[in-house]
Amino acid sequence: MELNNVKGAVGADAGVDVDVLICGAGPTGLVLAMDLARRGVPALLVEKSDRLFPGSRGKGLQPRTQEVLHDFGILETVRAAGSEYPRMLSWEGPDGRTRGREWDMMERSEPTEQTPYANGLLIGQSHFQALLHDRLRALGGEVVFDAELTGLDQAADTVTARFADGREVRARYLVAADGGRSTVRRLLGVAMNGESVDPKPMLVADVVVAPDAFVDEDNWHVWAGASGGAVVLCPLPGAPRLFQLVAQYEDVDAVPDATPEGVRKLVATRTPVAADEITEVVWASEFRPRAALAERFRVGRVFLAGDAAHVHSPAGAQGLNTSVQDVYNLGWKLGQVLRHGAPAALLDTYEQERQPVAADVLGISTRLHRQALLGGDSQRGNVVKQLGIGYRGGPLSSGAAGALEAGDRAPDGILPEGRLFDLFGGPHFTLLAIATEAPPLANEQVRVHTLNAYETYGRGLFLVRPDGYIGWAGETDRGLSDYLARCGAGGAGR
Ligand SMILES: Cc1cc2nc3c(=O)[nH]c(=O)nc-3n(C[C@H](O)[C@H](O)[C@H](O)COP(=O)(O)OP(=O)(O)OC[C@H]3O[C@@H](n4cnc5c(N)ncnc54)[C@H](O)[C@@H]3O)c2cc1C
Repeated sequence: MELNNVKGAVGADAGVDVDVLICGAGPTGLVLAMDLARRGVPALLVEKSDRLFPGSRGKGLQPRTQEVLHDFGILETVRAAGSEYPRMLSWEGPDGRTRGREWDMMERSEPTEQTPYANGLLIGQSHFQALLHDRLRALGGEVVFDAELTGLDQAADTVTARFADGREVRARYLVAADGGRSTVRRLLGVAMNGESVDPKPMLVADVVVAPDAFVDEDNWHVWAGASGGAVVLCPLPGAPRLFQLVAQYEDVDAVPDATPEGVRKLVATRTPVAADEITEVVWASEFRPRAALAERFRVGRVFLAGDAAHVHSPAGAQGLNTSVQDVYNLGWKLGQVLRHGAPAALLDTYEQERQPVAADVLGISTRLHRQALLGGDSQRGNVVKQLGIGYRGGPLSSGAAGALEAGDRAPDGILPEGRLFDLFGGPHFTLLAIATEAPPLANEQVRVHTLNAYETYGRGLFLVRPDGYIGWAGETDRGLSDYLARCGAGGAGR
């Protein structure tokens, strides 16, 4: 789609070209575009590059993100393309060829009825993004490439974005999903408050390693004591002999050489893999880990999401996951305001709910980085799985019943009436009436299910938001109607 064909193609309305303009087709922008597409909200996703990002950067999908993918109906596809996390294997000795200890990067847990996805899933970011892109197209959306946003103006009801080639798009809302160096954030003048996590540079690359080279594809190989700095090679699913290389530099002033020759030389110097056994360097980049949080996640009609709102150390595999969940929080709220007339105040709850979550996650990834990023005793605890994240006490959490409080993640369950995650799946709200009578709801946005009993929830009424958190809970339906009205989901019919 061309930008100048936007009108009509994405649902033009009086005064605007599109309801939501999304800037940046990384995982954040792609997931938001998918969510808005399934809600029937006209949206346009623009990307300055001529293609999706080609590297494996964020390669770990945490259990909570897998639950989000279940809701979108693409988890099985993503799981089929990914793999379990391989065991870490330490190589020691002066030549790095002595087999050392093995351990799991993430604490392994058994799946339960309530938490069916208990462990991280390994898949390169570029591979994951390609699957999101496929899904977006299947939903009728697409990415407009070669479209670099360079300017914006806000008016009372619209935001106008300008592009490098002079084109303009007018939208009701703009979502900045344009990454850690966000142009939109800079244009808004929103400060990033944070710190360097580590002054030492790092290099990350995707490399293809010859079949008979030292490393197998069953382990995540670690040379923690390599001279010059630790190195790891992690096998990536989806292509034979493809590995993600991450290298630290002990010297603060080192200048990583991200050319194919530089990458080959680094591997040959620090591991038993020879330079000519790196048959291809698919992509390479250097970075210095930072942890920073945007002062605001919203300015007028513009929202910041994903890396545009928070940047992390890669330790703990939190950045991409937190980004996906930002827009999972924002997407349904935009849908309710734009499609169902919810009060615009609903959109204020995006920053109120997500900024504290991002602040906590920054603390976790910084702590893990400083403990030991590449090697040492670096097993991650369960906190990185993001299943404990919730919005208790938040602006959109009201009441408690049985064993749960509003703001809690709504657990899964396999019941005679159906699997809960399947009942929740889709853009609607779900009201569970457990061991109690359901109130009469004259409202097609809320699906009501009466369950005989489920101990995990206990007895009561539980309203599950479209993003899988309990929004409202009570022993009677007092307050439910008001809550639904705040969300643009009508009255409770009484
Ligand atoms: C080495 C490394 C390992 C990592 N490992 C993990 C991990 O295991 N798990 C995890 O959760 N996270 C991980 N991360 C972090 C993860 O990669 C990021 O959090 C994630 O990419 C953020 O997604 P995003 O869509 O917000 O931004 P990005 O992926 O940066 O996408 C932003 C997009 O916006 C486009 N863009 C920028 N400016 C403009 C403009 N002006 N106009 C139009 N388009 C624009 C860019 O071209 C880009 O495509 C890792 C990062 C690194 C560096």
